[in-house]
Amino acid sequence: MKLVTPIPDAVPVLIAGGGPVGLATAVELRHHGVECLVVEPRASVSWLRPRAKTTSARSMELLRRWGLAETLRERAPLPVSWSQEALFVTSLLGREVARIDACFGLDLAGSDLAAEPGQQAPQPLVEEVLREAVGDALLTGWRVTGLSEDADGVTVRVTPEGGGEEREIRARYVVGCDGPRSVTRAAIGSRYEGRQDERPNFNIVFRAPGLAERMPHGPAVHYWVLNPAQPGLVGRLDLKDTWWCIAQGVRAEDADPVRLVRNLAGDDVEVEILATDPWTARMQLADRYASERVFLAGDAAHQNPPYGGHGFNTGVGDAVNIGWKLAAVLNGWAPAGLLATYETERRPIAADTIEAAARNMATLAPELADPALMGDAAEFERVRPAVAEAVLRTKDSEFHSLDLVLGYTYAGSSVVAPDAGERLSHRWLAPGDSLYDRLGPAFTLVGDSTLPEAVAVQAEARALGVPLRVAHLPDHPLTLVRPDQHVAARAPFPADPLHLALAH
Ligand SMILES: Cc1cc2nc3c(=O)[nH]c(=O)nc-3n(C[C@H](O)[C@H](O)[C@H](O)COP(=O)(O)OP(=O)(O)OC[C@H]3O[C@@H](n4cnc5c(N)ncnc54)[C@H](O)[C@@H]3O)c2cc1C
Repeated sequence: MKLVTPIPDAVPVLIAGGGPVGLATAVELRHHGVECLVVEPRASVSWLRPRAKTTSARSMELLRRWGLAETLRERAPLPVSWSQEALFVTSLLGREVARIDACFGLDLAGSDLAAEPGQQAPQPLVEEVLREAVGDALLTGWRVTGLSEDADGVTVRVTPEGGGEEREIRARYVVGCDGPRSVTRAAIGSRYEGRQDERPNFNIVFRAPGLAERMPHGPAVHYWVLNPAQPGLVGRLDLKDTWWCIAQGVRAEDADPVRLVRNLAGDDVEVEILATDPWTARMQLADRYASERVFLAGDAAHQNPPYGGHGFNTGVGDAVNIGWKLAAVLNGWAPAGLLATYETERRPIAADTIEAAARNMATLAPELADPALMGDAAEFERVRPAVAEAVLRTKDSEFHSLDLVLGYTYAGSSVVAPDAGERLSHRWLAPGDSLYDRLGPAFTLVGDSTLPEAVAVQAEARALGVPLRVAHLPDHPLTLVRPDQHVAARAPFPADPLHLALAH
């Protein structure tokens, strides 16, 4: 018999949408012992619509914080050691033009820069791992159809998929993670601002038995096909025969999926089409992220082109930021005023990410494709150096974006000290022993805990009822670290640093 999540009358936090961001928000809340309910129409994850493939080094660090990084890695069909390269080719079976190494932070294992390297993993796998972590807080088969907010909370209307009686659930707070066509965004009167790319794109998931074995190029997480007749981007979903591709500049009504795959492969290979998904890149940002009690996260708040692999990763950053702040308020260690800093901290990061992804999109396979690459060997060799130079010049920032992925900062936020806000610099204390593993779920004081300033912060935490972990590392500069691993303050601390960090 199938277990059915009962529908509660009331819950502290209701999350509209159980895509990766809604699920991540729930995991963060549960990390702090806060009860929540995720309302999601889809009974199961969409394996044939894999969408995001890159879980960034930063998202992997956050998964490690939840105890899920190893699970995702073990189940990811492409081990991180399998390839860290992007290849630029004339076709899958054709000639190599250029290659870029150390893509997407996949090479960071053991580096002090990060506690985790990135990981290639199809989005449904990420969602499945998060669904398991969320457990019975996930209500599938229902969607949010409306909400009304008052001084004490939010009344959320939910309706079963396929028809049935509407129900109401009362929540103290709502997080809208219901994607680009967010009902939550509309309900709070927030609007997307931005633009849309003109070029149509056509995604295909396909099986091609034996194709990989025939390819001369070796493993790569991306193969960019620079054939002017059919430019595109191809990758493997597993080490069996399942692949994904984006055919650029193809309208759904003109698409012949088998022909497209064969053109990208460069031969009439055996192909079984599993799914197709037309899409257009969007650069959109909600004009506001929140009302008093309703917060937007993930694609409900921002959308960027997929180039650089930032889409859902930015949303995971949102989830952690709003998640710990809601927990701080609901657990009684912060006033509700802290929640206003969610928008001021996260919206500028989404704006920067949208611009970075739009810059990445300015030069794609169609722009790099040169007809001479498809000529005879002499013609190919004549143009190859110039095309390779253009690839390295224009695509480097797409594959090497640690400044954005690890380097985003909340500097200037009202709840960090003037010289703080950045992610705590990571280092290995011993092989496999990350500084981050010493951090608590809430705040952490890192450094020599016997110093008078450290003793004062511990007293301040007791007075405010803030959970504070002490990581006694005498050789580390005395630092107050937030739940999201960003630096709230470093010694010499401002007066009452926890009051500052929690908007008291
Ligand atoms: C074709 C394509 C390719 C992409 N490739 C990449 C990539 O390579 N890398 C990358 O990082 N990103 C990529 N993205 C973007 C990435 O998929 C999104 O950024 C990510 O899915 C956002 O997660 P989310 O949870 O915010 O929203 P979504 O994944 O859209 O999830 C929203 C959830 O809300 C549910 N929902 C909708 N309406 C309601 C409602 N009324 N009530 C309750 N639930 C509701 C939906 O069922 C869904 O599960 C791609 C997107 C597309 C379309």
